[in-house]
Amino acid sequence: EALNKILDLKGSIRVFCRVRPFLSTDRRRLQEPISSGSERIVVRSAGGRKEYALDKVFTQESNQEDVFVEVEPILRSALDGHNVCILAYGQTSTGKTFTMEGTNDQLGIVPRALEELFCQASRDSSASFTFSMSMLEVYMGSLRDLLAPKPSGRVYDSVCKCNLNIQTDQNGSVEIENLTDVGVSDFAQASRWYTKGRRARSTSWTNVNEMSSRSHCLTRITIGRSGATAEGNTEVSKLWMVDLGGSERLLKTGAIGQTLDEGKSINLSLSALGDVIAALKRKRNHIPYRNSKLTQILRDCLGDGSKALMLVHISPCEEDVAETICSLNFAKRVR
Ligand code: ADP
Ligand code: MG
Repeated sequence: EALNKILDLKGSIRVFCRVRPFLSTDRRRLQEPISSGSERIVVRSAGGRKEYALDKVFTQESNQEDVFVEVEPILRSALDGHNVCILAYGQTSTGKTFTMEGTNDQLGIVPRALEELFCQASRDSSASFTFSMSMLEVYMGSLRDLLAPKPSGRVYDSVCKCNLNIQTDQNGSVEIENLTDVGVSDFAQASRWYTKGRRARSTSWTNVNEMSSRSHCLTRITIGRSGATAEGNTEVSKLWMVDLGGSERLLKTGAIGQTLDEGKSINLSLSALGDVIAALKRKRNHIPYRNSKLTQILRDCLGDGSKALMLVHISPCEEDVAETICSLNFAKRVR
């Protein structure tokens, strides 16, 4: 409950940082390793010493369980009726997908969250719950339904349902027209849909790295809650779990043509996300939700009454230090 206490006291966004372990395929470790406390990170580079304050830091030694323990309270908030989003941010190959999806023997946040939601719902005798699930990919400003009955082979061709409209009703609630939303009644069923969504995503790209660095992958759980005491009303809340596109600045990597356009599109939507969160924190009158599809989709999960958790991922490598600093600056801006 500690996280929820902080959320209530200090606003609605928490920012965690996770440092990826050094892998055998990595080239060179940072000369001065990133040093960290449980709530701060120090990076030393040619540009000098920079210190960042965060809500929680996970080091190379942290495992999936360590991360999930800190995420769990926000799931309770979702069951209690808050809209919630959990976002994985960072340069490509820093571990966003590892954190969200995980591997077969080191499950990430999404499968653990699915299990936990059903488990908590079954233990709660004061209310009854229904769950449904959607998955979509956002690529170059188009939305692609990953749970549609007939997923197309090629990405964003004329057959795929990839230009779904995003509507916001008078209450500020966001609805994505025609997005497949499947009812799920237990963890096994939810896992099967999750697998299907992940598969639909990967078949449209030539390789996994390409797809994840140039598109955002979003999983939505819609929770219906009817309390024993209420007048039979059903309260609905949403939980978004988002594996964001790679934050690296593609202009600097010498990308050209389509790759450059894709990179620009991702960079624009990530900065739009940063702008929205920064505007919310400063309690500005105008919140620039309309600047990207990503922020239009997440609109009702960023802001009043909702709770957001941003997990910023960084690399332990020397050659990535400039991107590491950019990511930590993003963390600082949104926190
Ligand atoms: P991203 O999604 O940010 O591009 P990945 O999740 O694909 O990055 O991670 C890149 C590689 O590093 C993968 O092989 C992944 O299994 C591995 N990896 C990332 N984070 C960790 C971690 N915390 N512990 C062990 N391996 C990790
Ligand atoms: Mg990935």
